[in-house]
Amino acid sequence: MRRRLLAVAVVLGMLGTSACANRIEGEGTIAGLEITHFESGLKASAPDPGLAIENVSETEDDRLAAAAIADVTAFWTEQFPQHFAQEFPPVAKLLSYDSNTDRIDVCGATTADVAMNAFYCPPEDLVAWDRGTLLPLLREKFGPMAVVTVLGHEFGHAVQYRLGAKAGISGQTSTIVKEQQADCFTGAYFRWMAEGRSEYFQVSTSEGLNQVMASLFFIRDSPGQSHSADGAHGTAFDRTYAFQLGFQNDAAKCAAIDQADVDSRITERPFDPDDAGMGDLAVNEETLGLLQRSLDKSFSGAGVPGPTIVNQGGSCPNGGVSTPPVSYCEDTNTVTVDMAALAKLGQPIDREAEFTGQGSGGLGDFAAFAEVVSRYVQGIQVGFDMPVDNTNAGLRTACLVGAWTAAIDQPGASLRPSPGDLDEAIAELLLPRSLIAADINGHPAPNGFDRIEALRLGYFDGSGACSSKYP
Ligand SMILES: [Zn+2]
Repeated sequence: MRRRLLAVAVVLGMLGTSACANRIEGEGTIAGLEITHFESGLKASAPDPGLAIENVSETEDDRLAAAAIADVTAFWTEQFPQHFAQEFPPVAKLLSYDSNTDRIDVCGATTADVAMNAFYCPPEDLVAWDRGTLLPLLREKFGPMAVVTVLGHEFGHAVQYRLGAKAGISGQTSTIVKEQQADCFTGAYFRWMAEGRSEYFQVSTSEGLNQVMASLFFIRDSPGQSHSADGAHGTAFDRTYAFQLGFQNDAAKCAAIDQADVDSRITERPFDPDDAGMGDLAVNEETLGLLQRSLDKSFSGAGVPGPTIVNQGGSCPNGGVSTPPVSYCEDTNTVTVDMAALAKLGQPIDREAEFTGQGSGGLGDFAAFAEVVSRYVQGIQVGFDMPVDNTNAGLRTACLVGAWTAAIDQPGASLRPSPGDLDEAIAELLLPRSLIAADINGHPAPNGFDRIEALRLGYFDGSGACSSKYP
């Protein structure tokens, strides 16, 4: 986040009056599909892919890659005639390489130049992947669906190349439009898999989709990049949007993503020239004071007393429910924080350490501030007599955090989000113990997919949408 000296009042709309609606029993659904819990990955009954792959190895990662390619090819073979009235010719060339040892000519370069990557090369109609570092890293960090996600994305580019004008693709199409389409096509493919139509893979709509969302987060652009920059892939916030769009709709919807659509909603943008801290504030008494003022102003229109943020250890003293490092204590209408733990969470994400798996656990300042916001809005919801102890309450909370984020993004606000902040919130939302998407007891909504969707709804549609979508 960044700070400004001037402070202006930002008033969020009233939360709405639908507080007495019944709570939804059970876990609900994800885009119309039942929420499932089982191990995601290759099915025991998966057929032999029987593909010709150059330089292929006997490794687990190449086995996964081959199955993913056969599977996504089956998906597109079925979908192309349905949505685009044409056949899907299989991708002409497939190449596996080990970035640590191989030096193979490909697409005007060598595999040593492209190193740790996966890519589609249009002139050769080729999909290539690094089985030496990239695939094992993704699989070990997130699980097998991360490998399928990456190959599904590269096939998304092969799909574009085949559709051309039908997907609005020309020599002038920007990278970000192509990337958003490819992520969306990946979402459409995973929908098909989640419906149980894949011969090769099974994916649960809970932990399985979380693997996908987490891997999209991992391969996001660094904060401060412009979405119009050459090679921009989009932030995790933007990428997960495109994936969810495809998952909730179909391939035709993805092919319709164009520059105007992307310009209207994309959040990726460069740092402000006067943002000296490049988006990271320390978490301390002073910045929490700014946060208190920002929240009080933002929710002044709600007409209920907002909680006071206190540095008193993060647990409620009088036997109230505690959700350290930040808790909402109903009896005193306070939000108590464990400053040291919060400051640790608020340390910037170290991209280098993230890649080698040695991260410090810091998710960035916004993740820390948003956890405080999530507990503050418990007080607002209690003031409105809303149910605060179920899955809907967790999602409503994430939604309100999103609404607050958008509301303070104004010139002159005492605190403003900076590039990368929404991605820090997404990183927090994908933690098993997320507070941003948790109810008053600290129980998060079970699915990363739903949590991210709730944050986005509030961000784009404001707080009124939070209480109507999550009564
Ligand atoms: Zn791409």
